[in-house]
Order: sequence, then C-alpha cells, then structure tokens
Amino acid sequence: MMIGVDLDNTLICYDALFHRLGREMGDLPSNIPIDKTAIRNWFRANGQEDIWTQMQAHAYGDRILGAQAFLGAVDTLLGWQLAGHHVAIVSHKTRTPYSGPMFDLHSAARKWLEVAGLSGVPAYLEETRSGKIDRIARLQCTAFIDDLPEFLFDPLFPDVPTRILFDPNGNFPSKHNSGIIQARSWSDVRDQIEQSRN
Ligand SMILES: [Mg+2]
Repeated sequence: MMIGVDLDNTLICYDALFHRLGREMGDLPSNIPIDKTAIRNWFRANGQEDIWTQMQAHAYGDRILGAQAFLGAVDTLLGWQLAGHHVAIVSHKTRTPYSGPMFDLHSAARKWLEVAGLSGVPAYLEETRSGKIDRIARLQCTAFIDDLPEFLFDPLFPDVPTRILFDPNGNFPSKHNSGIIQARSWSDVRDQIEQSRN
C-alpha cells in the first residue's frame, strides 16, 4: 500500500500545547477541555481571536517540540514501513504563519519529525491546499489519513480508495455511506488499514 498521512492534528497532537499556551498567553480558564477546538472556540467567544492567532504561530513554530505525537502514531508508521508499505507524510503548511512572529514553520516541522524518530519517512510540506491534493495524487496513495473532513470530502480530492477521518475528540457525527472511515485513535487507524488490505 501507499499510505499518506497528514501531519498537524493527525500525527502531532497540539491539544495540551494549546492549553498551556492559552494559559500563558491569554486568560484561558483551566476547566476548558484539553481540546484544540474547544480552546479555539473559547478564544473566539471571548473576543481574543488575536491571541489565538499568536498562539498558533508559536505552536507550529518555536514551541512545536512541546507537542506530542498521538499515542501509537509513530510506532504505527514505522510498523507499516517494516511491513513493506510505502508511507509518506503530506501536509498543507505555509512557510511562515499568516500573522504574528515569523517563524519558519517548515523547519520547525522537520525538527519535530526528526526528534520523533520519523526522519526515515518522506515528508512533503506543501504551501497550498491544491499542492497537497496534487501530491497525494502523484504519490498514488491507496490510503490517506487526515483530521479535516472538508479536505477528505473535497470534490478535487484524488481517487484514494481508503480515506480515514482521524477524529480523536469525536467532533464529527459519523457519516454513513460517505466512503470515509472514521477513527478515534491510532489503534483504530491501524485496524482500518489492516482491514482494507483484505
Ligand atoms: Mg491536519
């Protein structure tokens, strides 16, 4: 198989880092769940969208090493490689943040991958969404895992037989007959890939 994997919020879990940054940089109450979406919603609802923007620059930039891989994600990727699958990380990531401090987000991401032990997995960091779609098509991925339903459902998304929506916090209602499989954890992802081979 040729398995493509998204990077941010699929492989790298930013929830705890955003919670920490929200407390350091803003007034995030400690009882807000450790969930990126809940944290973003709180900043929006409290008129602190500018702080949220700054937090993102730091999370994907100079503070990225404070983010952990999702449980089981790294071992799963390395296990697939050992089993003879091709694995590639394909991410839509601008070189610098949309605003805020001008960190090099690509070198930050590559540093994270190196520290995580994933230097042996090819990583394609694409500046645009269409660049990411083209890359998935050119790699001829037979499976792709991503946390964004609007990306997997994009009419331009290539014809990838196994599309897995990674939804650890259960934010999306399950869509039956959509052709998209939902996974709540990396052990779910591993099981789904195993099943798709049969
Ligand atoms: Mg993502």
